[in-house]
Amino acid sequence: MSDSAVLTQILTTLADLQASQQLLSQKVDKIQTESEHPHKVKLHLHDSHYAGHSDSDHDTVVSPTFAPKIDHASLFAEKPILMTQPDQPGVNPYTMNWGKADPQARGPIVVSRHPSSINIRNALGAYGGPYSIYRALAVAMEELAEDHRPNFDHTEPVINIPQQPQWSDPTKIVSFDPFGHMTTQLYKKEIEQGLDIRPTIAITRAHMLVPEIQAEVKRGALTVDGKVVIGDTGELDVHKAAIDPVWYLPGVAARLNVEEDVLRHCLFESTGGMYSELITRPDIKVFLPPIGGLTVYIFGNHELIADPKTQLTVRVHDECNGSDVFCSDICTCRPYLIYGMVEAIKEAQNGGVGLIIYLRKEGRALGEVTKYLVYNARKRVGDSAAKYFERTENVAGVKDMRFQGLMPDVLHWLGITKIDRFMSMSNMKHDAIIDAGIQILERVPIPDEMIPADSKVEIDAKIAAGYFTNGHIPDAEDLSRTVGRGWDDSHP
Ligand SMILES: [Zn+2]
Repeated sequence: MSDSAVLTQILTTLADLQASQQLLSQKVDKIQTESEHPHKVKLHLHDSHYAGHSDSDHDTVVSPTFAPKIDHASLFAEKPILMTQPDQPGVNPYTMNWGKADPQARGPIVVSRHPSSINIRNALGAYGGPYSIYRALAVAMEELAEDHRPNFDHTEPVINIPQQPQWSDPTKIVSFDPFGHMTTQLYKKEIEQGLDIRPTIAITRAHMLVPEIQAEVKRGALTVDGKVVIGDTGELDVHKAAIDPVWYLPGVAARLNVEEDVLRHCLFESTGGMYSELITRPDIKVFLPPIGGLTVYIFGNHELIADPKTQLTVRVHDECNGSDVFCSDICTCRPYLIYGMVEAIKEAQNGGVGLIIYLRKEGRALGEVTKYLVYNARKRVGDSAAKYFERTENVAGVKDMRFQGLMPDVLHWLGITKIDRFMSMSNMKHDAIIDAGIQILERVPIPDEMIPADSKVEIDAKIAAGYFTNGHIPDAEDLSRTVGRGWDDSHP
């Protein structure tokens, strides 16, 4: 028997023991709760929403909404419920048929561990990604009532992203909920009944003032059209969608070409054992991971995005705070982002649509601490393109952890089947999109004049490793000649 099989067996046995103990304590808690809180209301949820259980009592107890003051003893079981089991009495997950076209048949994402929904959850994790941790702090400090329910009045999307055939293909969208922006409309009844169901996508409208874009307008390289560029100051009008991750675990596993139980086990271990039910609840297929999501910026007429006749310019950009926000010159991130934005604006002004897709995968999903450690290793021993990837591998063990396989989901969500101009040189992004069945007609590299001198190390190393270029592909000798600045040097 392999080590992982022994571990799984031990975990299962442990889970069985804990389940028996929990069952007993839940019964005691229920008796206590009912006797201490007779004001709680009874809620009946219709049988058809449940996944195949016909012999259980579907009544569940919920607290009144907008409770003004927290009462920890009433909101959490006295002993924390560490995990549940699929065959535990009372456990009765809400409908979840990932990939169904009918949102009612698909079912809402029910993830809350509130006593009213812990037994009917059909998802693990928490709403809000990493911000669930800040929520915990607010609840612990009694700044926020654990059973607070958001007031969703007037929060609905400002534009309609309509349902696409891709939404009902369970292999096409696996990393977020395609109905996530329609939650409050689709599951209004359930929310009114007291279930804590929240949107995982929000769509809004904004004006943007970007210094480089303003400079382009000033020098006449971008025109003021009153629709996309709406003023002489270079002000932009944009629609944008923020998307939180919601993983359909069988689909994510298949996309990454791993077994679902291996994925669950690795997620459990790598999060410090935070989500024990990844192991004990194989019947729950949906997981809201504690990671950042993505944002889509739409320039031009959003109604044209899914029309294959529309000219589409797309930049898929992975977060790089040091460059994107603080203009560090060690990489091409912000310049390429700006170039993508300029070309997206021009496309929109020509009657097409421009998209910037911004994914929270800081430092190739290795994080900023790892990134700075790598920077130190690069600069201390002489920064060269020849050694570029080796420095990252020494620290992180891999070159890159972005694994672009999940990225095309957002393109499917928007109904995109082809991209006319793809503003990226990344072979990994390109290949993931092609593998998803979406055509790319043209790949557009960043112009040489936009590449900061010190970022030549990175871009040359990437081109040698397979990044797209219209120009020269550097050989080993070229790479050893491409060197970066030392800390004390300044550019000529
Ligand atoms: Zn960067």
